[in-house]
Amino acid sequence: MEHHRYFADIILPLPLQDTFTYFLTKEQFNQAQAGMRVTIQFGKRKLYTGIILRLHHEKPEGFDIKPVIDLLDENPIATVKQLQLWVWIRDYYLCTLGEVYKAATPSGLKIESETQVFSNPEFDDVGFLTEKEKRAYGYIQSQGSLSLQELSKNFEGKTIQHLVYGLQSKKAIFLGEQVKNHYAAKTVNVVKVHPDYDHEFKMLAVMDELGKAPKQQQVLMAFIELTGMSGEKPVKEVFQADLLKKANAGQQALKALEKKGVLRVEKKKISRLDRTEPLDDTRKPLTDNQQTAIEKIRQYFNSQKTVLLHGVTSSGKTEIYIQLIREVIDSGEQALYILPEIALTTQIMNRLHGVFGNKVGVYHSRFSDNERVEVWQKMIDPDKAYQVILGVRSAVFLPFHQLGLVIVDEEHESTIKQFDPAPRYHARDTAIVLAGYFNARILLGTATPSLDSYYNAQTGKYGLVELNERYGNVQLPEIKIIDVRSAYRQKTMRAHFSPLLLAKMQETIAAGKQIILFQNRRGFSPYIQCQTCGWIPQCPYCDVSLTYHKMLGHLNCHYCGYAQPMPNHCGACNNTTITTKGFGTEKIEEDLSLLLPEANIQRLDLDSTRSKKSFERIIGDFEAGFTNVLVGTQMITKGLDFDNVRLVGILNADNMLSFPDYRAYERSFQLMAQVSGRAGRKEERGLVIIQTSDPKNQILKDVLNNNYKNMYLHQAMERKQFGYPPYCRLIKIVLKHKQKPKVGEGADRLAKAMQKLIGNRVVGPVFPVITRVQSYYIKHIYLKIEKEKSVSQVKKWLRQEIGNIMTYDDLKGIRVYADVDPN
Ligand code: ADP
Ligand code: ZN
Ligand code: ZN
Repeated sequence: MEHHRYFADIILPLPLQDTFTYFLTKEQFNQAQAGMRVTIQFGKRKLYTGIILRLHHEKPEGFDIKPVIDLLDENPIATVKQLQLWVWIRDYYLCTLGEVYKAATPSGLKIESETQVFSNPEFDDVGFLTEKEKRAYGYIQSQGSLSLQELSKNFEGKTIQHLVYGLQSKKAIFLGEQVKNHYAAKTVNVVKVHPDYDHEFKMLAVMDELGKAPKQQQVLMAFIELTGMSGEKPVKEVFQADLLKKANAGQQALKALEKKGVLRVEKKKISRLDRTEPLDDTRKPLTDNQQTAIEKIRQYFNSQKTVLLHGVTSSGKTEIYIQLIREVIDSGEQALYILPEIALTTQIMNRLHGVFGNKVGVYHSRFSDNERVEVWQKMIDPDKAYQVILGVRSAVFLPFHQLGLVIVDEEHESTIKQFDPAPRYHARDTAIVLAGYFNARILLGTATPSLDSYYNAQTGKYGLVELNERYGNVQLPEIKIIDVRSAYRQKTMRAHFSPLLLAKMQETIAAGKQIILFQNRRGFSPYIQCQTCGWIPQCPYCDVSLTYHKMLGHLNCHYCGYAQPMPNHCGACNNTTITTKGFGTEKIEEDLSLLLPEANIQRLDLDSTRSKKSFERIIGDFEAGFTNVLVGTQMITKGLDFDNVRLVGILNADNMLSFPDYRAYERSFQLMAQVSGRAGRKEERGLVIIQTSDPKNQILKDVLNNNYKNMYLHQAMERKQFGYPPYCRLIKIVLKHKQKPKVGEGADRLAKAMQKLIGNRVVGPVFPVITRVQSYYIKHIYLKIEKEKSVSQVKKWLRQEIGNIMTYDDLKGIRVYADVDPN
């Protein structure tokens, strides 16, 4: 019997129990710190990268304790504050530490047996590798790619992870399944002149010969200007993109010149994290209103308060953020800027880069894993860390050392909360906790606060600062509500456009201005139906009808992704009388191309933006004015700043208002106010047209009058009366099973068990609107807990009871989880 004295509690990237205890040697123990990674064996043969949460001497009882195989780091890769945050998330959001670890770190930091290892074809610093690394690198190179497991067969298996992380940090290899293409260093095309022509008069001579090719002449002229060839300090190369832009010419012209041997195009490596844009250091002086607002914010910050900045769209909230960030980094601290959506990062990133240059780093899920590893590794090193991080919710997981300010922009957005998988954390609330560890200040910004935050501001928990005017005294847009019922009756609707909307669209295009149309359904039509027998095709795995996507020619389930070809016969009566019902963005795009044949129309939704490029292209085209009409879903509502939009159309306000959820009105208000906010942001006043068949709806009136306060008061009253947040805390329990009776049985038992503990605070079980998704039947139970009551005790009980339900033999296969503060 051995006597071990040195132990570590280790977090594994598995959704199991919280930590696992392993023993270390004395040397390991002396080197080890919380936040360092270790290789451990778990299960029969599997090796994992775990992370040390705690070191101690308390020998656990009752099971065989295994050794830490290898200590992987010389310095922690996670800070103590990060680990503290992980534990908080586990307790608050009722998940496991493994789930948090998994979500919080890029996968390149926690390789396991199955992880694929690739050699980096661009790697050329073999001299920096140790002998062992060289051998491993050579082997990986010879194989192209292989799994860690395979690699370990050829090397002393146990320390393979150490070896692999070493190679990774030297960039000789990369890890993961599909990162290969992402990792190839980013290159740009640069243009140089052939030495034979490297003089202005030679170039001019060539230009003379090019009389019949004006585009090529333009390229040469632009080249001369950009390189400053005739000046004292000519540059040797220019970016191809800059050259063509300046020359107003296409690739063709450049290719022709390359053929003639005058110019040469070469690929040049640039770091993916460095940017080359010049800094735009011109400070925008704040307006009086903005100045007053920022002073109030500072005052609240002095008394350690979280501040809610409620500023109408285009009031210059972002300018205020920029000013505050500047102050924070001037004092040597870091700022974290959280956005709810990747969609927004490009625009804001350009703005921040313009001001802060390479002090800003971006972090989000469209980055390849390796890019995220790079950002992480920079951040963990206090000497190299970015001073500003712009990111989506996962950016709260980065290692900070001196966090001074957190900005949560568009704090009302529902996407700021992670929905699936666990941890189901709200990035705003998590950021507030994180900021607390640093005594950092927090600013929440939005034109349409969440009811929760506004409530906190009303009760004095948050400071409240308001900005009621748009920058440049541009008026908020005029809003018109159109009753489409009468238009349909009088048959004056054309497709889904009321006469007024169509007329205003024509006017707007004629005036050279732009239009945004909003419809919160993607696809062509939400469902199709047989006119003879009423048949509607359903998803075989979910209880929903299939959406018709015309461009792809198929029916698609928006819940599980199932697809089938568009049928030409009815599945029930075999007639060919199938029609499309309702309308999504794709149909609007098509209708519009008939109604406005001259207009350039583009669509922005999940389908049209599958790749990062396509999103940027659509936004870029719109910004550049190539597009007359942008049709889109929620995606277009998100804080985008366009100068030239005069008209916004909301095609159907009804389906959001009738959504069966206690937040439907709040969300509808936010959505409509935000879309409206895209109109008339510069100079002249914009117009918003809202089409509805319920024009008397109170929410529409509040939108019309831009009356957030009224919306808030009404909604708050209802929430109080019916016991919903912000007047209580809500926990949603989700149960799933492939068999309907089992999910019912499980839900009943869990509800009963909880009732015993907390009485009538248990609501349900109920079936949700969509009772089956991906072959699983779903039931929900809600816990409504008064604000004054200790919610942590309830959570402990709940965790226990959920654990119990999953162990019952007769309920095998049941899935249960809790969603705290659900959307
Ligand atoms: P918000 O974030 O409130 O929607 P923005 O910060 O995007 O508003 O501001 C709207 C527009 O007005 C932007 O184009 C911004 O550059 C401009 N703007 C705002 N404040 C100023 C200022 N003080 N000086 C110059 N331009 C400003
Ligand atoms: Zn039929
Ligand atoms: Zn489905």
